[in-house]
Amino acid sequence: MTARSTLLLAVPVSWAGLWTAPLAEMAPDLDVFVHGRDEYDPKAIDYALGFRPEPGLLGSLPNLKVAFSLGAGVDGFLSDPNYPKHIPLVRFVDHQLSREMAQYCVMHTLIHHRQQRLFDQFQHEKKWRQAVPPRQTEDTRIGILGIGEIGTMVAERLRDHDFRVAGWSRARKHIAGVESFAGQAELEAFLNRSDILICLLPLTADTRHILNMATFRQLPKDAFVINVARGGHLKEDDLIAAIDSGHLSGATLDVFETEPLPASSPLWSHPKITVTPHVAAISDPRVMVRNAVEGIARHKAGKPLENVVDLARGY
Ligand code: NAP
Repeated sequence: MTARSTLLLAVPVSWAGLWTAPLAEMAPDLDVFVHGRDEYDPKAIDYALGFRPEPGLLGSLPNLKVAFSLGAGVDGFLSDPNYPKHIPLVRFVDHQLSREMAQYCVMHTLIHHRQQRLFDQFQHEKKWRQAVPPRQTEDTRIGILGIGEIGTMVAERLRDHDFRVAGWSRARKHIAGVESFAGQAELEAFLNRSDILICLLPLTADTRHILNMATFRQLPKDAFVINVARGGHLKEDDLIAAIDSGHLSGATLDVFETEPLPASSPLWSHPKITVTPHVAAISDPRVMVRNAVEGIARHKAGKPLENVVDLARGY
């Protein structure tokens, strides 16, 4: 029989059932408390699981051993200035999540590349119009900012559609058929050759607002931007100005500085911007819970944890 442990679930209370039910099923030896709903003793908490725990919460748990993120991005944890730096933070890494992200990126790349919005408009106007100049796939250069777990799968899938794909990261990558640009010194050359720019970076102090006017000016004329990483990567006003000036041809955005995107945002109605409500990948709560439960089992067995965030790097 395994010793009982205590887990604090730090999610919006109205959503808690999505995780409490699989936790009860998969980890009967865990006592689970929902922050904001249940009374609990902070000293009794061994593990925490959440998405954007409120600032100061994790620092108030003196016996916390490991924090588990329900998301691949951990900016919602590390934006807390009082995050307890001695506590390992494990992020969610999952093949299915990467696959959903890759599907979204391929879909929006193809919608742009095949000019589907134009044909939507023709249908709306009942126009049978075939004379639209095609774009050559082999000549279309895709640039992926961030070529980690998700960016690598996105790059491979777009390469398999015959696009010319490159990635930008801190360390040089060796992915068959994907050109690698590394570090700040190679960013400009990477941007200069990116007709479609896809952002898959983690949100850190180094990458905040990386999608700004200076970056857009380094892209070729008529470049298209897809942001599926975090809203904090993009200066939204700069994007609108770069599209309205005719330099960029448009954008697809899944993530926003403020979520839900306020009704007053001009992004909603911009004719050259596609907005989706942070749905590029919706993970199955059971898979997320299984990930955390396996991590807790590893920790209790004294085995090394997997997918631990480098807190100094911020991802
Ligand atoms: P990851 O595995 O940590 O990969 C991050 C990549 O970014 C790595 O290639 C890393 O370079 C690069 N990078 C980080 N900082 C950099 C810098 N300053 N300069 C150059 N390159 C830098 O992350 P992931 O799991 O692929 O996830 C990417 C992001 O997707 C997440 O952080 C999250 O924000 C977002 N996301 C969004 C959704 C959604 O539904 N929209 C769902 C899941 C994830 P190195 O390889 O050299 O370290």
